[in-house]
Amino acid sequence: MRIGILGAGQLGRMLAHAAQKLGHSCSFYDTAPSACTAELGPITVAQFDDQKALREFASTCDVITYEFENVPCQSAHFLSHLKPVFPPPRALEVSQDRLVEKEFLQSLGIGTPRFQGASSQEELLAACETLGTPCIVKTRRFGYDGKGQYRVNALSDVPQAWTSLNGAPLIVEGFVPFSRELSVIATRDQQGAIAFDPISYNTHIDGILHRSELPAPDLAPEIRASAHVAISKVLTTLQYVGTLAIELFEVRGEVLANELAPRVHNSGHATIECVASSQFENHIRAITGTPLGSAEPLSRAVMFNIIGSVPDLSELSRLPNCTIHLYGKSPRKGRKLGHITLINPSEEEEKLVSTLCITCKEVA
Ligand code: AMP
Repeated sequence: MRIGILGAGQLGRMLAHAAQKLGHSCSFYDTAPSACTAELGPITVAQFDDQKALREFASTCDVITYEFENVPCQSAHFLSHLKPVFPPPRALEVSQDRLVEKEFLQSLGIGTPRFQGASSQEELLAACETLGTPCIVKTRRFGYDGKGQYRVNALSDVPQAWTSLNGAPLIVEGFVPFSRELSVIATRDQQGAIAFDPISYNTHIDGILHRSELPAPDLAPEIRASAHVAISKVLTTLQYVGTLAIELFEVRGEVLANELAPRVHNSGHATIECVASSQFENHIRAITGTPLGSAEPLSRAVMFNIIGSVPDLSELSRLPNCTIHLYGKSPRKGRKLGHITLINPSEEEEKLVSTLCITCKEVA
């Protein structure tokens, strides 16, 4: 099949690798040329509201998917009248607006941080008073990697929070004193079968994912079960086809849902090495109507992101359990340029890779 992918970043790249493995080919659509997917298929460079370009793109594809959640919903709907689009455009509507997303999760009985919307400075003050300080103020739309966020420590911070977030529509969340951050990733196929990837334990530096370990160590069976119940509810309610991630906070023996990502997720990259059918492969299987492969963990894996600039990786060639993925992007502060996966690493191996990845981030 010819798979059309909206977005041509590293997730598109890894989806295309999985597609090739299954005998499919890919075309990409993005607003700018991309080095990530340059050798993996033709790219249409056009705006997402260019109906002529969308129509032409659709005419060359059997099925269309996306690799980032800010694809305009209207474009996804437009395409869905021409060719099958998976995941369903409704998943974009829900995940593009943090307030709609939290209300949706709440309507399914899935625990979230306490929250309240705010569209003016007065409403922001009222929400901070209700939820108490500290609290986290976020723009409803277009936030990622901790951007579009402000931590209000005292009510006197409210004017500064309002100004620094440019008066955008906001959601205010009660501060969650979580013990750790987890993510649950699963794929639903066209018959409704669900494959769960190992739950990952994530650590961030400056709001950007630094390290993911999977399966998350010492995970209580009840936590795993409630994460699976939560993601299954979202998948079935949306009649979802493809891979979905939910970022979670583990707090006092339960999990709260922070964010949905209607796509493959950075915290699941190590599934390329540590399960039989990675998140990328299962996403491609789901959207092409092929039965899902096993996502049961075959080993422990730890992934580190390479951010900002690529360090000297020559030392790593002596590690037999190490895979380096570079995306072909040019260096820039805060930019994800690649990742490194270690299978069953020793403490020393982990430390070596972690230090390399932290150093390159600081240099950038
Ligand atoms: P987000 O953009 O929503 O993924 O948030 C980025 C990071 O900010 C998360 O990974 C958490 O570390 C932190 N964070 C977000 N929301 C909250 C919250 N309600 N309470 C505590 N920390 C939060």
